[in-house]
Amino acid sequence: MNKIEHIGIAVKNLEKSNALFASLLGEKHYKIEEVKSEGVKTSFFKVGENKIELLEATNIDSPIAKFLAKKGEGVHHIAFAVDDILGEVKRLKKEGFTILNEIPKKGADNKLVVFLHPKTTNGVLIELCQEVD
Ligand code: ZN
Repeated sequence: MNKIEHIGIAVKNLEKSNALFASLLGEKHYKIEEVKSEGVKTSFFKVGENKIELLEATNIDSPIAKFLAKKGEGVHHIAFAVDDILGEVKRLKKEGFTILNEIPKKGADNKLVVFLHPKTTNGVLIELCQEVD
């Protein structure tokens, strides 16, 4: 794995949280993107070479809506950048991790993404992401 690409934070109200994080980081978000298939609206902030992704649910079946209902607002996932997502899936499977989607899906920010179940990663949802060119 290359680096922490971004940290995902579940929020109730994207507009309010965009303002909050802009004042925290001293810089506005640089994009907003809706991922319809996941039922989320996201915004991205740059922090040096890393990013913060804020996630708001767009429907009640969204994984973010479920997370918020269960745990409230807060850190939702940590995303690692990888060069060979299929190779990593194979390796991590062999290591005993539970992969939520073995076939990478299209995530926000023009990336292919795979998630690891938090039950095998100390309660932290892990995202692997590979840039699509
Ligand atoms: Zn993410």
